[in-house]
Amino acid sequence: MSDPIIVVGAGPVGLTAALELARRGVPVRIVDRLAEPTTESRAIVVHARSLEMFERLGLVDELIRAGVRTTGMEMHADGEVVARIALDLVDSPFPYSVTVAQTETERILTAALAGHGVTVEREVTLTGLTQDEHGVQAVLEHADGRQEAAGTGWLVGADGGHSRARKLVGSALAGKFKGEKFLMGDVNADHDLDPHSMYTFFSPHDGPLLVFPMEGDRLRLIANIPTDEQRTATREWLQQVVDERAERPIRIRDSRWLTVFEVHHAQVPEYRVGRVLLAGDAAHVHSPAGGQGMNTGIQDAHNLAWKLALVSTGQAGPAVLDSYHAERHPVGAQVIQFAGTLTRVATLANPIAQKLRNKGMHLLTGLAPVRQAMADRTEETAVAYRRSPIVVRGRGGGDLHAGDHLPAAGPELRAALAGAHEHVLLTVAVDGSAPAPVSGMTVRQLLVGAAATAPTGYDAALQDPDGHAAARYGLPNGGRIMVRPDGYVAAIAPLDDDAPLHAYQALLRA
Ligand SMILES: Cc1cc2nc3c(=O)[nH]c(=O)nc-3n(C[C@H](O)[C@H](O)[C@H](O)COP(=O)(O)OP(=O)(O)OC[C@H]3O[C@@H](n4cnc5c(N)ncnc54)[C@H](O)[C@@H]3O)c2cc1C
Repeated sequence: MSDPIIVVGAGPVGLTAALELARRGVPVRIVDRLAEPTTESRAIVVHARSLEMFERLGLVDELIRAGVRTTGMEMHADGEVVARIALDLVDSPFPYSVTVAQTETERILTAALAGHGVTVEREVTLTGLTQDEHGVQAVLEHADGRQEAAGTGWLVGADGGHSRARKLVGSALAGKFKGEKFLMGDVNADHDLDPHSMYTFFSPHDGPLLVFPMEGDRLRLIANIPTDEQRTATREWLQQVVDERAERPIRIRDSRWLTVFEVHHAQVPEYRVGRVLLAGDAAHVHSPAGGQGMNTGIQDAHNLAWKLALVSTGQAGPAVLDSYHAERHPVGAQVIQFAGTLTRVATLANPIAQKLRNKGMHLLTGLAPVRQAMADRTEETAVAYRRSPIVVRGRGGGDLHAGDHLPAAGPELRAALAGAHEHVLLTVAVDGSAPAPVSGMTVRQLLVGAAATAPTGYDAALQDPDGHAAARYGLPNGGRIMVRPDGYVAAIAPLDDDAPLHAYQALLRA
């Protein structure tokens, strides 16, 4: 058996990568320099696209139970609601965000990983790394000072914003290093806010206040503060900022976690450096505006892990790993741009510019397409890989393109795909026909919309009496869809032409 893949960092990103490898039976070690998991709640919003990912991991119900559903966003200025965006506009089986402390998200991932026999090796620090075309030599320092030389085929650097893996491969974050500073608190408070809405209070003072209701009377409060601010966080200071900026009464009773932190907007130029793959904060950092940091990171891990599993077991060529960079680097860049735009708009200092912003936002968010775009961007449901080097470009007769995330089409199909960790080839049948399965494919084949029992060659047959799948996927005459293990569409083919499906398999083998 080959040396286990080493995942450095047991934050949400490293845990997701390790879990995705472990549940595919790929040997994996995950190490973290800390003796205990962090107790800081940090990222608290899990967006719709990440919930879809958690459904594939079989963890979504537990995560939803641990948090609060957030179904909308409100923006306040000048004593009025200037914008209200309903998140249920998004096309997802989870048309909402879940507000849950990062500690809970990590706990759920850690327990699932343990269920596959993998425990986080704590007080183990990556201190050295060399690589050649055959493998990686990592130096792992243990709590007793022992230096372990660990050989591995592939190493995932998920060791956060100050990533040692990134430095050791000679990479660096590039971007805007003019910091943004925030005063943040997780508090218990008396308030009359809707527990299912996120709030932004644009303030004429030093910047906005973001408020996220959590379970019970708990609130996450985040306020931009000047970068030259030197004070340490106190409850009194946070209350003062809340009193100045919030347009609703919020009385902090006690604080669970208070901090001041500074962030930059930056990204590494390459997510793959030979046999080292950088993911999460190790690859991109940006402000918490939009709450995209952790979500982007865990989706990096989700995108990477199935490819790494195929490559490390010889089922795909190493070039597939280049598609990790090709697909995820542009997403990281867009998130950084989005967070930067949100920050610039929110921190306008000129009173005339502030008035124009408030009016403009009110007018723009009165337009349905703008509300839709904002909801999609926030929930990350617009993420697609249509230009990916491992997607066979094409589409059916509707909106669905290869590279898009497969939309849900009925509970039976959704249930069949939940928990899947392999490729699935959907054959969508119409008029009760039962097209033959595609031969020569080592993937799970599902027939959708025909016979009650699976004809030979199919793994299962799913009912679709109303032709929902055919309509949803723009396949009025039927067709085939190759769905990747991360839920994205790799190729779409008509029933009488399997060439796109074989072309995809050739891309994987390259
Ligand atoms: C104060 C604060 C507030 C935040 N608020 C939000 C928010 O509201 N919304 C949002 O989306 N994001 C937020 N974030 C960002 C979010 O927490 C990160 O995006 C997320 O944690 C990234 O996960 P990660 O796994 O990439 O890195 P991390 O969570 O940083 O995990 C990296 C892990 O690697 C370990 N490690 C580091 N170096 C080594 C080494 N050499 N060897 C072994 N292990 C190592 C660390 O101990 C750590 O456990 C916040 C961050 C902070 C600090």
